[in-house]
Amino acid sequence: MRAFAPKSLEETLLRLAEHPDLRPLAGCTDLMVSEPEDRRGLPGVLDLQSVPELRGIEWRGGSLEIGAVTPFSEIRDSPEVQQSFPVLAEAASKIGGWQIQNRASLGGNMANASPAGDSLPALLVLEAQVVLLGPEGRRTVPYGEFHRGYRETALGPGEIIGWVQLPKPPEGATQLFRKVGTREAQAISKVVVALLASVSDGQISEYRLAAGSVAETPVRLTEVEEAMVGQSARAAVADQAGHLAAQAVRPIDDVRSTAEYRRFVLAQVVRRMTLQLVA
Ligand SMILES: Cc1cc2nc3c(=O)[nH]c(=O)nc-3n(C[C@H](O)[C@H](O)[C@H](O)COP(=O)(O)OP(=O)(O)OC[C@H]3O[C@@H](n4cnc5c(N)ncnc54)[C@H](O)[C@@H]3O)c2cc1C
Repeated sequence: MRAFAPKSLEETLLRLAEHPDLRPLAGCTDLMVSEPEDRRGLPGVLDLQSVPELRGIEWRGGSLEIGAVTPFSEIRDSPEVQQSFPVLAEAASKIGGWQIQNRASLGGNMANASPAGDSLPALLVLEAQVVLLGPEGRRTVPYGEFHRGYRETALGPGEIIGWVQLPKPPEGATQLFRKVGTREAQAISKVVVALLASVSDGQISEYRLAAGSVAETPVRLTEVEEAMVGQSARAAVADQAGHLAAQAVRPIDDVRSTAEYRRFVLAQVVRRMTLQLVA
């Protein structure tokens, strides 16, 4: 098996052009615990961790750019992320435990494309853009179009996630994140929810809601969003939001939870988040 550890973006793209079948890897927290069949027979690996262009957090042209191999501990501790994108800082702080956060990358969470990936609902409500790099060049995909189906993404052959761009959120918007798992740490989510919303002149003027572990991909709950915008900020709308959220999703029964429990918990979490907004 071939193994490459490029030291620059240029070298990375050269390797991908020569060998588009190389498997990219970052923190390996998913790859190393995947089924042996997934790793056996890999034609080769491309370790992205030593590529400086793919790591770091920086404002560029009005958006905060986060390199794909940036680990969640850096995202969690970043003053820029904490100040402007607290929903993502909070998600980063709930992934695995500290050891996992030191290795697990944002790009790995996205490319692994588990419906339970904790950063994914946060990226959805932040309306992130994803910059993909490959033999054909560079293209930008709205994160809302990145997940195509169960564990299917917009990544083409030989393409990698380069970085994520987060546009400045609306001034004064409230950002909330909630993960429900079996324990506080080291638990895969039964339900994970992110909300970005604003109230002005007593009315909900912005309401972006996303959830994970409730469908085959992480999803924006547009039915709830549409019903909430324009509502007057009063406690009764929180009940409506929770009810609509439970109706909008298609969870499954699996080893971690039942579909019924997921719907119930989603309704409670969305209700409480909305109450926080309108109280
Ligand atoms: C003990 C434990 C606890 C965990 N807890 C959580 C949790 O609470 N929440 C959660 O969401 N996840 C959790 N995970 C899963 C995992 O840590 C995350 O999904 C993590 O973000 C994966 O990142 P990585 O850098 O380790 O990816 P890797 O394992 O290196 O790669 C994962 C996949 O992404 C691909 N890939 C990686 N980087 C790129 C790139 N830049 N471009 C294209 N493809 C790429 C790889 O080819 C591979 O298919 C846990 C894992 C473990 C082992």
